[in-house]
Amino acid sequence: MRLVVDLNRCQGYAQCAYLAPDVFTMHGEEALLYSPQVGETQRENVMRAAAACPVQAILLDQVEERAAEGAGSRGG
Ligand code: SF4
Repeated sequence: MRLVVDLNRCQGYAQCAYLAPDVFTMHGEEALLYSPQVGETQRENVMRAAAACPVQAILLDQVEERAAEGAGSRGG
């Protein structure tokens, strides 16, 4: 799952950092740091954080990651 935070919306409430501290970190008073790639173990925390964000700044991309495409040789 991929994660994007709309930093124009984010007001630094730090709800997300509280709910998913392994993914979101407050850096100073307003700057939010986050890791865009969310592993399975953090999935639920991140979804909670997204739901809890007062300004809905956390956007989740639930597109499944594709396995590396390797078997595509054509012609010959
Ligand atoms: S909960 Fe929302 S507004 Fe608060 S720091 Fe996280 S993304 Fe920003």
